[in-house]
Parts: sequence; C-alpha cells; structure tokens
Amino acid sequence: MSDEVYEKIRVSMNKGWPLKLPKDKAIIDILKIIYADEDDAKIMACFDQAMFDVKSTKKIAKLTGLPLERVIERCNTMAERGVILKLGKAFGLFPAMPGLIEFYFIAGKDKEEMKKGAKILQENFGKIAPEWFASGYPFFRNLPSSSIKEKTIKIDESIEDVGQKFLIYEDIESYINRCTNITVVNCMCRTVGALLGDKCEKVTEDVCMALNMAGKSLAPYGFGREVSKEEALEIVKRCEDLGLIHTINNASGPDAPMMICNCCSCHCEVIKSLKQFKNPSSLARSNFKPEFIRENCILCDKCVNICPMEALWHHYPHSGDDSDARIMFKEQLCIGCGLCAHHCPNDAIKMVKVREDELAPNLLAMFKKIEDTRGH
Ligand code: SF4
Ligand code: SF4
Ligand code: SF4
Repeated sequence: MSDEVYEKIRVSMNKGWPLKLPKDKAIIDILKIIYADEDDAKIMACFDQAMFDVKSTKKIAKLTGLPLERVIERCNTMAERGVILKLGKAFGLFPAMPGLIEFYFIAGKDKEEMKKGAKILQENFGKIAPEWFASGYPFFRNLPSSSIKEKTIKIDESIEDVGQKFLIYEDIESYINRCTNITVVNCMCRTVGALLGDKCEKVTEDVCMALNMAGKSLAPYGFGREVSKEEALEIVKRCEDLGLIHTINNASGPDAPMMICNCCSCHCEVIKSLKQFKNPSSLARSNFKPEFIRENCILCDKCVNICPMEALWHHYPHSGDDSDARIMFKEQLCIGCGLCAHHCPNDAIKMVKVREDELAPNLLAMFKKIEDTRGH
C-alpha cells in the first residue's frame, strides 16, 4: 500500500484533536506496522476525522469497494487489536494520542509486531514528544498525592477566597468518588519499555485507569478490568508508596475526567519529556509546593530519593557544627506532586497551596484552550 494512504490516515487522525502526530517517515512506518493488511489501510483511509466521523460497515464497503463480508471481518479483527474505534455496529478512527498508540499497546495482540512499533516510537521520541508542550495550556496535569490533605499547613495569603477548600482536581479521593466507571488498564509506556528489554522496576502490576466514558469505551474490546472506587483508591495509595505520580487530563467539570495515569519518571513519556525538554507545558503542575520545617528534618534523604523531578538535594554542611546541613529545593523543577511530603518520616515537609489555576470546564473547552494557545 502506498505511503499516501497512510499519510491520509495520519492527517485525518490529527483533525480536530489537540495532540497531533508529526509528518514524518517514522509515523508512516508505525502506521504501516499497525495497518499492515492493505484492506485495513483502505478502510482506515475512508475516515475524514478521528472520533467524530463514524461509519457503518455498509458505508465503508461502498467507499472502499470491498465486499461487505470482508469489511465486517476486517473491522472486527482490527477492533480486537485495538486499532479501530468501535461504537455499536459502526466504526471510526482513533485519535493518535491518547488513542491509537495506547490502545494498540494495551491490546497487546502480537508481541513481535509490537516490538517493531515500540522501537520506532522510542527512536523517534524527540519528534513525537514536543507535541505535548506545543501549547501554553497542557493536556496533562498533576493530581497531588492523597496524603497532601493531612500535609497541608497554610494557604498563601495572596490567593483570595480559596480557604482550606480542596478543589476536585486537587483531591484524588473526590476525583475517584465521582467517577461512573473506573477501568484499570496496562501502561503503554511501561509496556513499550518491557518490549524493548527495559522493564520498569518500580511497578509490575497494572495501575493506570481509564475513567467514565474512556473506561466504558474499552468494554466492547474486552480490554482492562473495571474496578470499584474502593479498589481504585487502594491502587492509587499503593502507587504513592511506590513513588508514582498521578497524571490526569487538564479539565475540571464533572464529565471531564478521562484518566488517572500513575506515572514513573523512568518510563512515562510525559514525565520524561518534561525532564528532557525542560518545558513546563508538558504537564500542568498542581497548585501546591512543599515547605520544609528544618527543625523536624533528620536528613534521611527519603524526599531526595523519591522526588521524580530531582527538585531536591542534600546540602552537606560547610560549618563545623553542621548548622547549615539541609535539604535544598529548586522550585522551578517542582510539579507539586506531594510525594516528598508523603514519604517524609518526620513531618518535616508540609504542602502549601500557592496558586489556583483556572481549568477548562470540560473536554471540549480543554481541546479549544490547547488549540488557542498553540505556539504554531
Ligand atoms: S503516561 Fe505514565 S502511566 Fe500513562 S501510560 Fe505513560 S507511563 Fe503509563
Ligand atoms: S519537590 Fe519533588 S516530590 Fe516534592 S512536590 Fe516537588 S516534584 Fe514532588
Ligand atoms: S524526608 Fe523529611 S526528614 Fe528526611 S531528609 Fe527529607 S525532609 Fe528531612
């Protein structure tokens, strides 16, 4: 199948979706692996937009000239592989990310074929990742550790009318409690690492969650495992003990939550891009930052070792009496995850609310904000 067909799929996937795939041979090569069957490529090329252009198999047969039975067979096979959107009896195109790339690795059907895709993704990280910080308004946001509620001491006086109130996207328990569906899936980034022989040592179980509509949309494919709110809370608390960062999509309304990724800084492509490219627009930091209570600090280095952003370090003393030994903090690197406070054994770190970001009220408003603040 010619490159033009795959290029048409790439362009349609990007239409109307905030995170886009760049025009590059590597992307065409990945699409050629995913849609290796010529008829699959033909079918996918008949959609003009991701998510919103959904077609019946009859319509697809008419547009592609393929026999109806063949279209039905290929659409169902692609659905099992997680590479076509299935809505009842109709089908469509996934957006690239989050979307096709995650679903393909979550489905995990053909390990050898996936290995080839994983290699291309990893080798071309520098071309794909900049899309996460192409806009002033990030797609992803940090949701702080659950223990932040007990570890918060005061609110910055300069913020009016905030009070001690925790907003829904600052409190993981409330965030989970208002979900109508929570489905645990495997983590695409760690799967890619494992396929390439670099298994994550921090976490082996599945801990990423698709929420609400995103969770329900996995049911027709048989992917993931729906869990209760209680189990979801247990999982996020286990993740905090493991030093994982909660990542959500950056919108606040009741239907906005799509995901809670529990990210390691060793494999998560979003966190890696934040560190590698030093661009804060990869992920919105939370509204909190740590404050250190020096008299409680026993200089155990637990916070230094757990901080995923390397924002903390141990300052060894110059003076004879050790009075200048302390933990140092670089605020520009901090995402406000609260893991340092969660892991401090001596109550020497409290989280302070220092801002109140105004979030997009729903997903469409979030997409618009991302589009409106694009730098190109
Ligand atoms: S964003 Fe983080 S948690 Fe989500 S798939 Fe990537 S590593 Fe896993
Ligand atoms: S210092 Fe590190 S661990 Fe603490 S809140 Fe900031 S990023 Fe998280
Ligand atoms: S974890 Fe707490 S006690 Fe240990 S070095 Fe950090 S601030 Fe000090």
